[in-house]
Amino acid sequence: MKRVSIKLKLSLWFTLILTVICVIMLLLMLGIYHRTDRELLMQTLTSTVDKTASKLRTDRRFQKDVMDGRLDDGDFYEEDVQIMILDEHGRHIAGLFLYEELDEKTLAGTGKAVRVELDGKGFYCCDKRVHVIHSDDLYVRGLIAAEDDLPGSLMSHSRILIAMPLLLALAFGGGYLITGRLLRPVRSIRKTAEEIRVSGDLAKRIETNGSGDELDELSQTINAMFDKLENDFDAQKQFTSNASHELRTPVSVILAQCEYGFDHADNAEELLEVITSVQEQGYRMSGLIRSLLMFTRIEQGTERYPKAETDLSELVRSVCADMRIIADKNITVSEELAPVTACVNREMFTLLTVNLIQNAVRYGKENGSVRVKLSGDDETAVLSVEDDGIGIAAEDLPHIWERFYRSDRSRSSKGLGLGLALVKQIAGFHGGTAEAESREGVGSRFTVTIRKN
Ligand code: ADP
Repeated sequence: MKRVSIKLKLSLWFTLILTVICVIMLLLMLGIYHRTDRELLMQTLTSTVDKTASKLRTDRRFQKDVMDGRLDDGDFYEEDVQIMILDEHGRHIAGLFLYEELDEKTLAGTGKAVRVELDGKGFYCCDKRVHVIHSDDLYVRGLIAAEDDLPGSLMSHSRILIAMPLLLALAFGGGYLITGRLLRPVRSIRKTAEEIRVSGDLAKRIETNGSGDELDELSQTINAMFDKLENDFDAQKQFTSNASHELRTPVSVILAQCEYGFDHADNAEELLEVITSVQEQGYRMSGLIRSLLMFTRIEQGTERYPKAETDLSELVRSVCADMRIIADKNITVSEELAPVTACVNREMFTLLTVNLIQNAVRYGKENGSVRVKLSGDDETAVLSVEDDGIGIAAEDLPHIWERFYRSDRSRSSKGLGLGLALVKQIAGFHGGTAEAESREGVGSRFTVTIRKN
């Protein structure tokens, strides 16, 4: 089926509506003209008849001229009104007698105009009785052509009829131009979407005109959507590149160690060193793959992580006990745990707690302390981990939640830069938030707030 452009459709609608309005207005106007015409004609008729009647009554000379037939036809035609003078019995005395059918009309003598049909045409007729001294009464009869019937009248307003098609052509042209202008943003949206589809360049944006109308708002919303998509795509690309990079390093180390082992390790001690290094890199890769999998599964919303009512104080206490065993630098881990239960995924919440305490220890000072607190109200559970370690520089603080972000000072650590990103993701998974406060050289506090249900 042939496609009809929306511009053409709207213009046709525009024209149709305008046509209907024009026709209605024309009919109304004609109705008014028609009425005014009729009233005017009747008034002209009655006043001309009145004038002739009073002349006949008062003007002796005129009376005589009429009786003697001394007047010609021109004297009985005034302002489109034909005048006839008749005697009491309807016999013609003077004036214009054009229609025989008129003779059959009885003389009313009332001086009022009535409509009559003569020879198939419409007229108004008016009879007035005149009392003449020393003679029988006479009648003055006036006749005027009636205004035309409606179709005829339409023809008489030919200028309007000629103007109609012109008006409609103008309406169509105007409609076409206006809709073309109105639809410009739609064309711009389509063009940009097509350009993005072909080039894959998400940096392109739709031109907005700042008018603030619905289409402008639509363009702005789509642009905001492109912003979000571009950011997400960039983050995704960055994530993939970082992940590959992080995996490449341990793989290179493993391969190099293996080569060294094969070519140069002469004794058991050197081989053990090689195996230890390979194992360390293996653990690193395993941790990385586990984190990557967790990110993906949480994002995809898989059912891999079911939630259940969990005693959080018991969970956190157990993590603290484990961390105490591996805490180095003579760091003490203390806890202040209120009895709190919440609906969480045990595996995830354990990982969240481990990551926070592990960081507190990893970035803690010699003989430092880590304080773990758990509290809650009816709706939320709050876990905070505070340390007196190296702290985080103000410029690093906004970035620590990004995947693979590590501040320059912590590059030498064994971390992957995924721990806090996972903490945030897990907090979000439990309908909560994760926040950090820190002062460089003084310490840091990480607070996670989750919904209990
Ligand atoms: P990493 O594996 O490097 O620890 P994280 O995502 O856990 O990665 O942390 C990101 C960065 O945030 C770290 O590299 C470190 O610079 C900073 N950071 C996290 N926790 C702390 C802390 N308790 N004290 C100081 N800096 C921290």
